[in-house]
Amino acid sequence: MSSMIPREEAFSIVMGLASLLRTEHIPLEQALGRVLAEDVLSDIDMPPFDKSAMDGYAIRREDILRELEITEVIPAGTPPSKRVGPGECAKIMTGAMIPEGADCVIMREYVELTEDGRVRFTGNDTATNICYKAEDTSIGDVVLRRGERILPQQVAILASLGCMNPLVARRPRVGIMATGDELVEPRERPGVSQIRNSNSYQLQAQAAAAGAIPKYFGIAEDTEAAIDATLKKVMAESDVVLVSGGVSVGDYDLVPAILRRNGVEMEFESLAIKPGKPTHFGLADGIYFFGLPGNPVSTFVIFELLVKPFLLKLMGHDYRPANIVMPLEQDIEKHRTKREAWYPVVLTSDGCVRPIEYHGSAHARALPQADGIICVPRGTNKLAKGEMVHVRMI
Ligand code: AMP
Ligand code: MG
Repeated sequence: MSSMIPREEAFSIVMGLASLLRTEHIPLEQALGRVLAEDVLSDIDMPPFDKSAMDGYAIRREDILRELEITEVIPAGTPPSKRVGPGECAKIMTGAMIPEGADCVIMREYVELTEDGRVRFTGNDTATNICYKAEDTSIGDVVLRRGERILPQQVAILASLGCMNPLVARRPRVGIMATGDELVEPRERPGVSQIRNSNSYQLQAQAAAAGAIPKYFGIAEDTEAAIDATLKKVMAESDVVLVSGGVSVGDYDLVPAILRRNGVEMEFESLAIKPGKPTHFGLADGIYFFGLPGNPVSTFVIFELLVKPFLLKLMGHDYRPANIVMPLEQDIEKHRTKREAWYPVVLTSDGCVRPIEYHGSAHARALPQADGIICVPRGTNKLAKGEMVHVRMI
């Protein structure tokens, strides 16, 4: 039970236990970062009519070498009133409806006007410059799928379909607590042997960025009574509980035993991942619990690898991290190979992956400089210069 399990196994346990949250309709203006809970069908053809892609003149292609008489001017938003016949053209604006008879738009830039006000094409050849009715989407097409995360691109599509109240998954309530007698709140100046609680603020930010609703419950000192009391408050208001610190094997690492006493069934207690080995995960009465190591880099990495995909899965989204494959600029070596190890890196302007100075899991200062993290797998003690590596972008 307490043996180290590989990341892949932990990932499938966590993802396998994630059950979908309920749904709600929300205003489109608040939809950014949410996950669609139903397929969205188009109620219109896009484009809704054949429209001009350019400012120019709508003509019959067979007339392209002739001098053409202008019959009307067609602004965007006004339907044409005349058919374009032989020897004729209509001056047309981008986004306006193509008049009947015309099959091509010549660009204003490649036209000159004759003395008697006719139009002469001066180019060699031309594209059609027409966006055809329904070439992007037809009525009834599924344009966005259940499980898609709503980014600005999706917002545009929802707006174009008049979907002002999309159905989305509810956001998980993520309750966050810290443990540790050495911790003070960031507004305070740490005394001798104290440090500021940065982890809980990082976790609130990570949870919010993943689309969840974070709530912070404060620091519990390293006593059973204090941890238990705070934990009970968190449990009363959360779908997911994140406890940081106190999960390792020190004398004051009381969290796992207290979780168990509160009915949490542990699914794992140790990961073959560096940093992040003492990560715990369990379940009680439909509430999920992550016990995360106290060190901020450990927490950051484990959140990225496990908690973030899990939170998105609760909302029905299948999270795929952005990966870039590029050559390593210098060797990376490690001594032990039982755990996979993650390192912060930057992408250089000449297309290489450069490890940045990193002193281990307490070195939070390394992360803001990093573009991503790379993994030296279990059983491997070296990645060699020039090797192609996957950078997981952060
Ligand atoms: P622990 O997991 O409680 O043994 O903590 C491991 C290390 O992380 C210790 O050096 C702690 O001081 C540090 N640490 C624990 N909790 C936090 C926190 N909330 N913010 C920053 N550092 C922490
Ligand atoms: Mg501690």
